[in-house]
Amino acid sequence: MRAKVRAHAVMKREQKSLRGRVGLLSSGRKFAGSGFGVSPRRRTIIAAMAALVLLPIEVSDAGWLSDVLKGSPKNAKPPKHVAPPKRAVLARPAASPKPHTVKLAALGPVAFNPYPLKPAATICDPAKFRIVLDVGHTAESEGAISARNVAEFVFNLRLAQRIEEKLKAEGFAETRLLLTEGKARASLVKRVAAANNLHANLFLSIHHDSVPDSFLEKWEFEGKKSHFSDRFSGYSVFVSRNNPDFKTSLAFAELVGTEMKAQGLQYARQYTQAIMGRYQHPLLNKETGVYSYDQLVVLRSTRMPAVLLEAGSIINRDEELKMDSAERRDIISSGVTAAVKVFCDSRWAILGPL
Ligand SMILES: [Zn+2]
Repeated sequence: MRAKVRAHAVMKREQKSLRGRVGLLSSGRKFAGSGFGVSPRRRTIIAAMAALVLLPIEVSDAGWLSDVLKGSPKNAKPPKHVAPPKRAVLARPAASPKPHTVKLAALGPVAFNPYPLKPAATICDPAKFRIVLDVGHTAESEGAISARNVAEFVFNLRLAQRIEEKLKAEGFAETRLLLTEGKARASLVKRVAAANNLHANLFLSIHHDSVPDSFLEKWEFEGKKSHFSDRFSGYSVFVSRNNPDFKTSLAFAELVGTEMKAQGLQYARQYTQAIMGRYQHPLLNKETGVYSYDQLVVLRSTRMPAVLLEAGSIINRDEELKMDSAERRDIISSGVTAAVKVFCDSRWAILGPL
């Protein structure tokens, strides 16, 4: 996600309620066997949640991810504290499930549950649960340029389309791909308005990462002067503490990060480093790679839980090749889909709060 777009860049290839807590069952493997056995994945998620609650949430500095993605003056101050979360409006409340008793002893350090205890009554119906998949940038303002001179927008679109396919295949029929036109800043307003008008239950913005210009090195690709930086790699997940439902946003971000990790991917660690200067961001969870980026318009102005995924670096020459592969798109889209399924899993209600 970069603000600066090189006008000379040429695309060489085909354009081509939740209720403030996280369900802890992973799709596909839940209820394996009989009873409420705890899967390794579940343990992972529990561990991630435990780590989350132990980490301090700091005040964010504005980041480099892109100035155009920020709608407020540069000297805008992030909040000193997190506002009390509101409940997300999910599809519809369903009949209260029968109360169940879960053998908590098997779940480990349940006392770390960062989410308040609430009645287990809301069930998310995948057929009605509306996810907006925001394709980062536009054809006109195409974001970062990869090491091989392909626009970030191209990567974002292909990945978002794959995620859409997988979600729909899993029954999330209301999934919407949000493609926006126009210049960068204006497109932000359109994205937010579209998501709000759609009454989305969840907003996920898809991007691919680059580096600040000072890190760029020169090379030549197919006879053309190009830029790269092999210094950093990895995915990262961002939330804004200014989102009206920050807590739910964070819960979903944690799920996405956990699933990315479960897919064998590593998160980008450079945002914690001093060399990033003003591009540093507070790392909210050192296990899952969830950072805060409070001033991002699409995260703070959306009236629903909102998360931004930097799927990987396209300025890193090796990682660009991976991000360009159908295999990597499958891995990431599977991870996102698994996260959404856990997020919207009616069986939370059966399990109740930890
Ligand atoms: Zn981007």
